[in-house]
Amino acid sequence: MPFASLGLSPALAHAAAQAGFAEPTPIQAAAIPPILAGADVRGAAQTGSGKTAAFALPLLQLLQAGATGARGPRQVRALVLVPTRELAAQVGEVIRSLAQHLQQPVKVAVVFGGVSINPQMMGLRGGADVVVATPGRLLDLVEHNALRLSAVAHLVLDEADRLLDLGFAEELQRVLALLPARRQNLFFSATFAADVQALADSLLSQPVTVELPHASGSEPAIEQRAIAVDASRRTQLLRHLVTEHGWPRVLVFVATQYAAEHVAEKLYQAGIYASPFHGGLSQGARKQVLQEFKDERWQVVVTTDLAARGIDIAQLPAVVNYDLPRSAVDYVHRIGRTGRAGHSGVAVSFVTADAEAHFRLIEKRQNLTLPREHVAGFEPRQQAAAPVPAAGKQGSGGIKGKRPSKKDKLRAAAAAATAAGTESLSATAAPAGAPPRTRT
Ligand code: AMP
Repeated sequence: MPFASLGLSPALAHAAAQAGFAEPTPIQAAAIPPILAGADVRGAAQTGSGKTAAFALPLLQLLQAGATGARGPRQVRALVLVPTRELAAQVGEVIRSLAQHLQQPVKVAVVFGGVSINPQMMGLRGGADVVVATPGRLLDLVEHNALRLSAVAHLVLDEADRLLDLGFAEELQRVLALLPARRQNLFFSATFAADVQALADSLLSQPVTVELPHASGSEPAIEQRAIAVDASRRTQLLRHLVTEHGWPRVLVFVATQYAAEHVAEKLYQAGIYASPFHGGLSQGARKQVLQEFKDERWQVVVTTDLAARGIDIAQLPAVVNYDLPRSAVDYVHRIGRTGRAGHSGVAVSFVTADAEAHFRLIEKRQNLTLPREHVAGFEPRQQAAAPVPAAGKQGSGGIKGKRPSKKDKLRAAAAAATAAGTESLSATAAPAGAPPRTRT
């Protein structure tokens, strides 16, 4: 089915072709026509489904058609709210690249916290057609009088569940209060827990629901595996799997920044191009690692949940949960990093004896039962404790959607340090020709 048959203009169908999109993904086929018709949309879609273009293409067409009027000074016509700076940058890049072939120029501003506000204020002079923002920085800019939200005609909430997970509920309400009542709302989320659903209900008016099979769980293209292993042997098992499968790129999730550094260092010393990627690195260093990962200069990137949010790398063949995610929602987001845009992928979870009960809860939430595999040479010596502890009592902070307390974090860091400290890998030389380790 060609893009043009969805009602997109020849210019935007051409933009999709220029982006390398041969035909619409299911979410694009389902969401583009109602968005073009001006309806509110509730989309259950994971990262990797093509959801960015699903809202960006019709949004650009509506803006081009001028249906929502020309922008005034400091005014914004379309607002896209995202949970993280990485996602803001990515979404902004997609919209800009799709817009570059259009006749009328589209001004796209990307704003997020953690960097100086002044260039962002300058960039907003004269207003913007599209602003892609994290909620906190957006409110800062409103307070600085750098932009006004009273003319927003289209609102997109991207990764709404992550916005709530990250504690943006209050900021979101403050942003919503600044928007005009008459507007189009597009709401995308990988999962719809009660709080996400409540937010969607409060926001959307007679929405068209775009729900793809498997959108709330695992995609069929993702093979999920659970390997039982002793905590102290995880790095060696990881090295074994990376070597055995020859995955060109692997994203490994750990619980703490310390573990990201430690595991990456151990792999690197063992001859595998591995780099840490976490919030303790500067924005520039993170961008560099990501680019080098995309260029396949790093084979393995070891990351924390927070840093990895919104990472978009097409054709990531493997994701490894070295430390289990805290929640089933995080599990979905992690495994959604692989199996993107129709490519198959594998998601491997390391299940230690201590984490067995926690993983069972994740499986339950996901309606999933994975056999615990044993890998020859890495058979676990420790047994899982028989009684199932209550949720929230696990070392990783429990499965509940609550944020980890300081105590949880300290405990997780201590556990990671203890586990990592008992490991040793024989080789010590750095891989020849590896990029220099980024530590800035
Ligand atoms: P997203 O879900 O928006 O993060 O998109 C995931 C990946 O799919 C990105 O790398 C996009 O470039 C790619 N993509 C989006 N739409 C299509 C399409 N119609 N055909 C092929 N790839 C696509």
